[in-house]
Amino acid sequence: MRKESSRIIKIAENSPEFRENIYRPMSDQKSYVFGAMEMEIIEANLSKNSLNMDPQLRAWQTHMASSIRRESLRKIREDLTVAYSNPRNTRHIKGLFEDISLASSIFGGNSKIVQFYQQFKDAERMAPANTRPFADFFKLEDDSLESLIRQHIARFEVTEKLFRKELPGFHQRFITRIKPRIKSSELGIDEDTLERRLAATKVVIADALRADLTADAGGQYRVADDVASISQQDFKRLGEEIYTHEIMHALSGKTLYAEKSIVDEYSDEKNKYYYTNKYGRLGLMINGKHERFRWLNEAVTETLTRELIDTAPDRPQYSQVVYKSERELLELLMIRGKYQIDLKLFTDAYFENYDPTLPREKRIPAWKTLYKTISEAYSPGFLTELDKYIKAKDVKAAAHTMQIDWHEVANFK
Ligand SMILES: [Zn+2]
Repeated sequence: MRKESSRIIKIAENSPEFRENIYRPMSDQKSYVFGAMEMEIIEANLSKNSLNMDPQLRAWQTHMASSIRRESLRKIREDLTVAYSNPRNTRHIKGLFEDISLASSIFGGNSKIVQFYQQFKDAERMAPANTRPFADFFKLEDDSLESLIRQHIARFEVTEKLFRKELPGFHQRFITRIKPRIKSSELGIDEDTLERRLAATKVVIADALRADLTADAGGQYRVADDVASISQQDFKRLGEEIYTHEIMHALSGKTLYAEKSIVDEYSDEKNKYYYTNKYGRLGLMINGKHERFRWLNEAVTETLTRELIDTAPDRPQYSQVVYKSERELLELLMIRGKYQIDLKLFTDAYFENYDPTLPREKRIPAWKTLYKTISEAYSPGFLTELDKYIKAKDVKAAAHTMQIDWHEVANFK
């Protein structure tokens, strides 16, 4: 039987391909906590043991349960070592120990965990700049490690409860803040789209030790299954800021794809297209073979977030850090050319959805206007040149060059 080769087409959000939803991945919305799976395995094996068992069988079962426990904890040790090797996880790893230290009344001030944490901190302090001391998680013995992970899971559960309590408030305040701006046509999105997207987006709390949520300072938005994640570790401090940022991604314009089903030629389904988790664009980021304009997408997302929510002036760490260089670069891009470019040009393009049912020239007019305006204010294709420059250097370097002389970006090879 001959297989149909797959073909990808662009689709609108209101198209049958999107609504049919057949291959659209559904998120189970379950949060996976670091170490939880291993703890479940340990418990499941312990519970197999029963006093009514034949003594020999019970001895064997006990032996099995303890070897499974040892193996599961070995896996956690390895995962911790891997997690620690990523510098972005340092504060989350420290967080694991801080929880325990705070709960030292349970474990006693001299507990092995507190000791290990002290050694870990000393090693970090003594390490030369830009190097990372080896965190010898293998030295943390089984009982201590198990307590550490159980404490982490317990904390996650507490934060998850808090999250469920707070989420309706986040949602309501978001609507209250954004509606006047939609009514005044300040943002290129209508109320129908706002409501549809808000209803479709699933917001979950996630463990930063399991998923890389560092890019968005504690969050992530996935187009494929409309899931916005907020990191458990950052929830108390920045939950609403992260929520607002991720929901902004969810509301931003998209270019969606459908894929022709791969079925044999005799099937009725052979000419149908289904939604695929691939996408062509999210906001201002193009997600082709090579990803482009991520920095611009984040700069606009965070700028809009800050206009919408009081970004906690009492928490300067947040206001300084989150996409700082990206936002600076966006501001420079608006003012450094032959004439100023209004933020509205960026936000109109940001919220624009691709509609393949419209004539070609009407499909993404705001994007085209933005690109053309930047080319006119600087030089032809300047936005692309800037993106290349960032890829070769970084956002901070690009902002620095834009301060001095943008021609260097345009002439960069
Ligand atoms: Zn983001």
